[in-house]
Amino acid sequence: MAGESENSKLLMLSIFLVQKLRENVNKTFSCLHEGVMCGKDDDVSFDGKVKHFITHLQHNLCSVNDNISELEKLSNSIVKVHVSQGSSLGVTGLLSLDPVLDKTPLYQQVLQSYKWSSKLKEHASHAYALLNHHCTMRRSSSIGSKKRKIQQNLTMEQMVSTLNRQYMDIMMINKVPNMPNVYQVTLGRTFYAIVGLRRLLIERVVVRGQHENIYLDDRMVDIWTLSRYKVFQKITDHATSAMLHYHLPLKAEMCFYSFMKWLHSYQKLFSTPCRHCGQFLQDNLPPTWHDFRSLLPFHEGCRQ
Ligand SMILES: [Zn+2]
Repeated sequence: MAGESENSKLLMLSIFLVQKLRENVNKTFSCLHEGVMCGKDDDVSFDGKVKHFITHLQHNLCSVNDNISELEKLSNSIVKVHVSQGSSLGVTGLLSLDPVLDKTPLYQQVLQSYKWSSKLKEHASHAYALLNHHCTMRRSSSIGSKKRKIQQNLTMEQMVSTLNRQYMDIMMINKVPNMPNVYQVTLGRTFYAIVGLRRLLIERVVVRGQHENIYLDDRMVDIWTLSRYKVFQKITDHATSAMLHYHLPLKAEMCFYSFMKWLHSYQKLFSTPCRHCGQFLQDNLPPTWHDFRSLLPFHEGCRQ
């Protein structure tokens, strides 16, 4: 602030000096304009008049020179106003310093234009992203459904083989014959689950005991009938919740892996106590609820 007041003082002095300079320049030009014959005194000789003219001109020029050098000195001592102090408008921001804003609403207009242009830029970038996405979709749809199906199956096969390798100790995922996008997940001797998919997204899960029927009469896999055991009915319910919890349409692969990891956590269903009460059974049921994040087992009544 001190710098600013100092600056304004110097600026006032500069303006005063400029006025003085203009006055002296005017005097010099008037002197030149009147020339040697300016004197009213006829008694003075011509040589005297010339001498007087030259002296006068010299004096005027000296004053102009002095004024200019003083002004130069002052301009050097004035601290330059930093551009960033104006605004993000750059040098245009200095318009806000104009004391007669009512008469010249240029600054407000510039500000408004700046806001509009920023908005326009933002909208344009969104539109560009959307159009790009649309183009990609159109390109992919033109590939042909057959080719797309093969690619999808390949991805699914890769994912299944990765998971089988990862959980080879206990969990096995097998494709159900004659039914596209249906998989049987066998978790050791604990239970098996039938998982129905639409593309890479899980749409249906049913959990049953190892000795329960997997096929319908016509040799088709039964993906609807619930287990006759309450424990597996509960796990089916939780698996449906898990399916919704891990549902990420844009990251279907990650969603599939996360769900399988969660299902794998049931491998010791009947031999792991509840993390809350430490008991194996509650209402004659083992800890059927496994937390979606920590994968820890809890009884349904012990959920936190
Ligand atoms: Zn418990």
